[in-house]
Amino acid sequence: MNSLDHLSVTSSPDSRQNAIRFGFDNSYARLPGHFYARLVPTPVSSPRLIKVNAELARSLGLDPHELVTDRGINILAGNSVGEGSEPLAMAYAGHQFGYFVPQLGDGRAILLGEVIGLDGVRYDIQLKGSGPTPFSRRGDGRAALGPVLREYIVSEAMAALGIPTTRALAAVTTGDRVLRETALPGAVLTRVAASHLRVGTFQYFAAQDDVDGTRILANYAIARHYPEIAQSPRSYRNLLDRIITRQANLVAQWMLVGFIHGVMNTDNTSISGETIDYGPCAFMEAYDPDMVFSSIDRQGRYAYSNQPHAAQWNLVRLAEALLPLFEQEEGSKEAALASAHDALGSFGPQFEAARISGFRRKLGLFTEDDGDAALAQSLLDSMATNHADFTLTFRRLCDAAAGADDSAVRALFADPVAYDSWAAAWRSRLEKESITNEERATRMRRVNPIFIPRNHLVEAVITAAVEKQDLQPFERLLDVAVRPYEDRAGLEYYATPATPEQCVRETFCGT
Ligand code: AMP
Ligand code: MG
Repeated sequence: MNSLDHLSVTSSPDSRQNAIRFGFDNSYARLPGHFYARLVPTPVSSPRLIKVNAELARSLGLDPHELVTDRGINILAGNSVGEGSEPLAMAYAGHQFGYFVPQLGDGRAILLGEVIGLDGVRYDIQLKGSGPTPFSRRGDGRAALGPVLREYIVSEAMAALGIPTTRALAAVTTGDRVLRETALPGAVLTRVAASHLRVGTFQYFAAQDDVDGTRILANYAIARHYPEIAQSPRSYRNLLDRIITRQANLVAQWMLVGFIHGVMNTDNTSISGETIDYGPCAFMEAYDPDMVFSSIDRQGRYAYSNQPHAAQWNLVRLAEALLPLFEQEEGSKEAALASAHDALGSFGPQFEAARISGFRRKLGLFTEDDGDAALAQSLLDSMATNHADFTLTFRRLCDAAAGADDSAVRALFADPVAYDSWAAAWRSRLEKESITNEERATRMRRVNPIFIPRNHLVEAVITAAVEKQDLQPFERLLDVAVRPYEDRAGLEYYATPATPEQCVRETFCGT
């Protein structure tokens, strides 16, 4: 039962019925031709289903039963194209680790089309790993099974944690091998996003001095994500403001769960404010503000505590790309620059406000006190010195808040006495709050997850799938990761930090 074969779906009566109803309603394909390249995915030899995200499918108005038929799997693998699909690869540029690349683009992804979800929001449905495109450069256009499983689990975990993110609608294996350091099984992920517009999409046009292209893109982004500013006399400045707000809040949310994105290049910075592009990402275990996961990030550019700086740097690049539009809005170059500076100056305060209010909730503080930021910081400093597990510290603090027993949380600190002195300050701060201990603990458990997809568990899932064709570990970890706040019996293994032997410090960027 533990094999990929078990999960494949062979012929079923449904597959002879009518075409699958995606209800595509495509808007990006209506934009000028130089925004993308039209092409169909490249077929694969033997597609087999790994998983369809039934709940997400339903929320998009799709029938999950149709997606698991032969016909559905063929579409999810790129072997056929659904009715109404207008497949295309999007053009974009980007700064990668600080270096500008004027043309990146979807080198291994193809947008199948857009659908309107039951929530009224327009969503992209995109295949990742669907074959070469005009933007592939030297790449093969494919994805290996491991990174597809990682993105599936981590993006769904992020969604369950309430953090804006692209989603995983489905994953299939291709039956073909992809050549990385070794030959690996290939897979295709179906990704859903509020859009795939990136800072790098704006840079693509700006770098060509294509002001018309930049304006068309900005108008498209406004209509799609920020329609309330469409009629504003300063709609481009408003657009920048809103993207800054979403990015500041997004990165603050990452910091609050110990998430390290790993590759915060401008082509991986979304205009909709979603977490996008799960490459060498991971959740940290022992708190270390300098933690880096990506093996290609030698300088620590995208280390945990550098993430707000990286986001702001990316937003400066966005502001640069928008300057010609600002100039028209403001009347002069000088005024345009001043406006951009003004907007960018709001990132830091917004990020810090979101971070502090998040840490207040994590600590069970529901009123504001001037000393709260320092209280949170002294806990983090002590966690760093004492190698305390980030997730467990906050979760066990919920139990400490419920009663007086701090033994579980203090045991996480190499020197438990360090916890005791912080806890004394925390308890005296709690006295200023009026809610009961029980109510405080309940609220804290809603914001402090017990389960995050720990990196060694994700690695174990990948190893089992790649080496033994065993997808049971994937199913089990996914089931845990999508209910992060629910303490269920028998799942201690998933809440336990890696032993030194299990510890996977680097997630290699062989995606
Ligand atoms: P990423 O690191 O996934 O954000 O990708 C950066 C750029 O490299 C994007 O333009 C991707 O489309 C492209 N890329 C990454 N992997 C491949 C691949 N296997 N084949 C073609 N292009 C790729
Ligand atoms: Mg990318």
